Amino acid sequence: MAVNSNDMMSTIVSLAKRRGFVFQSSEIYGGLNSCWDYGPLGVELKRNVKDAWWRAMVTNRRDVVGIDASILMHPRVWEASGHLSGFSDPMVDCKKCKERFRADHLENLDKCPKPKCGGELTEVRKFNLMFKTFMGAVEDNSATVYMRPETAQGIFVNFQNVQQASRLKPPFGIAQIGKSFRNEITPGNFTYRTREFEQMEMEFFVAPGEDEKWYEYWRDARLQWYKDFGIKPEKLRLRDHEQDELAHYAKACVDVEYLFPFGWSELEGIANRTDYDLKQHEQFSGKGMAYFDDETKQHYHPYVVEPAAGADRATLAFLVDAYDVEGEGKDERVVLRFHPALAPIKVAVLPLVKRDGMPEMGEKIYRDLLDNSIKSFYDHTASIGRRYARQDEAGTPFCVTVDTQSLEDQTVTLRERDSREQYRVAASELVGLVQKKMRDSMK
Ligand code: ATP
Repeated sequence: MAVNSNDMMSTIVSLAKRRGFVFQSSEIYGGLNSCWDYGPLGVELKRNVKDAWWRAMVTNRRDVVGIDASILMHPRVWEASGHLSGFSDPMVDCKKCKERFRADHLENLDKCPKPKCGGELTEVRKFNLMFKTFMGAVEDNSATVYMRPETAQGIFVNFQNVQQASRLKPPFGIAQIGKSFRNEITPGNFTYRTREFEQMEMEFFVAPGEDEKWYEYWRDARLQWYKDFGIKPEKLRLRDHEQDELAHYAKACVDVEYLFPFGWSELEGIANRTDYDLKQHEQFSGKGMAYFDDETKQHYHPYVVEPAAGADRATLAFLVDAYDVEGEGKDERVVLRFHPALAPIKVAVLPLVKRDGMPEMGEKIYRDLLDNSIKSFYDHTASIGRRYARQDEAGTPFCVTVDTQSLEDQTVTLRERDSREQYRVAASELVGLVQKKMRDSMK
């Protein structure tokens, strides 16, 4: 059965809830708008996405190191970065239905765009997207701090600390994964735009003049990353920002976009941020932010190329892209075709029946997989067909069945999710085989 693209998002949202990928936050209290909780499968998927990013950006590279900066930072950081004065969206409210809109998303500012309302709109107001809170016991202005709206500033303010501690020379990068907060005016599309989200950002510091070369490098590398982890190439594109779209400090910016059921939307931005951030922090903090080049005996402020991705948006794209419905009638199956490295569960162990020593053998195989850090699942309920179907819907790439023959010759049936191919392997070789298949999927 073909899935109508209009229904696609609601199908994904209900599958996500039913199978434990994503739940609405505080659901028993009626939910909290734009906040979501990851369930047992979702937390594994998102963790795998973040691990895949960290491996590609940090672990497997000699020129990038990581940090984990605090969410609350000195308030002057946000003056220097421009977020306090500039990080705002224009908004209008409908006086009748009380709905709030982004003014820059409306064609007509005279009346409410909702067809059944048409109410009068307020004046356009600027709305700062930063969440405020108070530090310490006294709620006055001097104690105001902000929840960071991006992780990048935690990297810039630590530029000297990290460079000196790691002794890396430009070109080199500092990466970070962490929560950010934006009081978005119009959150929505499930986990696509939320007020609390996780970012995966890397600031790559290069000598002035080398920035354009590295900008090209990172735009290609970041697009390729999504393809490497299985996103269909025809659903990915790069969109260059027009001059009037660029942030005032940016020399160039390109978005990696994915074709979601609700249209082409940004997954990640790659920007040439010039030397703006380091110079701003130098000016506001009074501390030198230049790099001293030992060879030329000169100081300079590195230029920065920034690939900035969202962990939640990437996770949603991998989930949407993996969704597939195959066959008709009673042969229909829903399958999440996750890349094996991203799949929440790698192997399901399924004894054919709950007797004759099959559960015991299954338990042993299950234990062996877990002892080798292969996230697995054991299930001896329901018919084997039902159990395969459940695993297809969870995106599990391999199912292992223990049957009568297993008890005689110590072999099991390995079933592959995508091809549904089944073949026998020695139980003692299972862990090695799964590990090899996982490794091969990364090539
Ligand atoms: P948008 O135009 O969609 O608001 P942005 O251009 O402001 O995004 P950046 O500031 O470049 O986003 O942030 C980098 C990445 O962080 C984005 O590409 C996205 O993946 C993620 N991100 C930003 N805002 C949100 C949000 N409200 N919810 C989820 N992810 C977000």
